[in-house]
Amino acid sequence: MEEDLVCQTCNGLGRIVDNNGKADICESCYGLGYVKGVYHSKPLSGSKLRLKRALVGTFGGLGIFYAIFLMALIKYSFGPILTLTVLLAGHLVAVTFLVFYILYRALHDS
Ligand SMILES: [Zn+2]
Repeated sequence: MEEDLVCQTCNGLGRIVDNNGKADICESCYGLGYVKGVYHSKPLSGSKLRLKRALVGTFGGLGIFYAIFLMALIKYSFGPILTLTVLLAGHLVAVTFLVFYILYRALHDS
């Protein structure tokens, strides 16, 4: 849902007066005096932070996967086909997890 809201920085004037008494175009609304409501309810920094967490989680998971995979490889010595299959499956799971997480977040944010 999107709606125009009066800019909180300049109170809808589109201009702000800085410490030197000099009037300047409001940086929050670029002189329009209003902002899209969606930007207030959904700050970009929040979704970026969540994306960062998802990425860290995915790569952390991959790191654990590699560690377990390497240990299993040393212990059981898989054939080349099985090694490739396990590696491919591991990446597929990681990518799928990341995509579903982003989709899940996108659906719950709107
Ligand atoms: Zn403004």
